[in-house]
This record gives sequence, structure tokens and C-alpha cells, in this order.
Amino acid sequence: MYFVDRTFPEIAELSPDTVAVLPLGAIEQHGPHLPVSTDYLIASSVAEAAVSTASSAGVPVVLLPALAYTKSDEHAWAPGTIWLSWETLMRTLIDIGRSLATTPIRRLFFLNGHGGNSALGQVACRELRREFGLQTFLGHPSVPVDHGGRTSEPSELGMGIHGGFHETSTVLHLRPDLVHLELAEPAVPTGLTAYQQIGFGKPVSFGWLSDDFGPAGHIGDPTGATAAVGKAHFEAAVETTAAALAEAARFSVS
Ligand SMILES: [Zn+2]
Repeated sequence: MYFVDRTFPEIAELSPDTVAVLPLGAIEQHGPHLPVSTDYLIASSVAEAAVSTASSAGVPVVLLPALAYTKSDEHAWAPGTIWLSWETLMRTLIDIGRSLATTPIRRLFFLNGHGGNSALGQVACRELRREFGLQTFLGHPSVPVDHGGRTSEPSELGMGIHGGFHETSTVLHLRPDLVHLELAEPAVPTGLTAYQQIGFGKPVSFGWLSDDFGPAGHIGDPTGATAAVGKAHFEAAVETTAAALAEAARFSVS
């Protein structure tokens, strides 16, 4: 299932229906309680498990090494954030797609663990479709709250978008040794509830930097996070991602 374990003649014989999965992580601040590797950890872990599940079910799928550094400029203020400019990330995704287009592979699936990459990922998907004829897909381990996803934690008021309840729970499941739950505090921008039209997951989005909301770094309420919630969340993400990969392998618009 690992693309990079194959030789070039083996890669030259892959089926055109093979889905190449590229996990997009991020190395960026996630508040005082989570490591800067959070998005990288989640994207690569879900991708590994989902590709394994899909592969066992007979879906033609290969896993590319995860991209650790992506577009985290909204967290540029914090030490530990290592970010690519949008131009660099766009060129990187295009160049990876261009390289894959020299193989028989015609299906490329970005599994994106960092919401800040989503808009750019959609543009890259279209660019790769037009320039190289690839069938491209952009999915998330779970749909981000600011892209219409739901949060189950009422105290987050629909704003658990970064280092909140779900993400903290997921890291508690995957790498409990990296979570400093004793430092977790709520950081919910309650002032945004005054607006009906503008906000996370509302009809009108807005440009923001994470320190616009204060010095905490995270946006959400991690205080009630548990490994059990994280396990359920992780397993659901693996299941939906594996199902998406199976669809991607047979996807056709006609
Ligand atoms: Zn994150």
C-alpha cells in the first residue's frame, strides 16, 4: 500500500484506477495543550488506517508520504509554526501531481488535516484536472466546522475549529503522551455569536489570524476531551475516509 516501497517498473504497472492518497498535515501551534504536529499526526494516522482498510477490501489505493509543512500563515505569530506561502504550497501540490501524471495513476486524493489548506486544495484540484487530466479529490478526516461540519461539544458554540474538543480527544487517543490536558482552557470567541451572516460555517466567511481571538492559540473548548471520544472520532474518520477512497477508485461523472 506504500507508494514509495515500490520500484519504478512496479509503479509503471499500476492500474489507472489506482487512487494515490496524499495526506496534508501542518506543523503549527495548537494552543498550550497540543503539539505542533497535531494536524500532521491526525492526517497521516487516518490516511494510513483508511488506506489499509480500503486496500484490504480490494480497492486499488497507494499511500504517498504525508506532506508535513503546508499553509499555516494564520499561526505565523507562534514559535513552532513552520509554514509555506500559498504560492509555494500551490506549486508543491501541482508539482507532485505533475510527477504522478507520468505514471499510470490518474486519481489523486488529498486527505487534508488542516482547514487552512482547504481553499487552496480545491484550486489545486481544478488546476491538476485541467493541466494533467488527473481526477482529483479533496477530503478531510472529518469535515471542519468552518466548512459546514458539526461539533458535538455544546460549549464550543459551533466554533471548535482548532485545538478544541474533537482534535484534543483525537490526539489523546493517538498520542496521549503529547497532550498537556492540565493546560487546556476554553478559548471560544463568544462575540461571534452576535452575527447571523458572518462567522465560521456561516454564509459569509472572513479572513482571520489565530491571534485575532486572543493569545491562547486554540479556538474551541478542549477541557472535556477524552481518549474514548477521540477513539470513536478517529474510527469514524477512518471508516468514512475508506468509503470515500472506494468511491474515488470508481468515480466517473458520466
Ligand atoms: Zn489542527
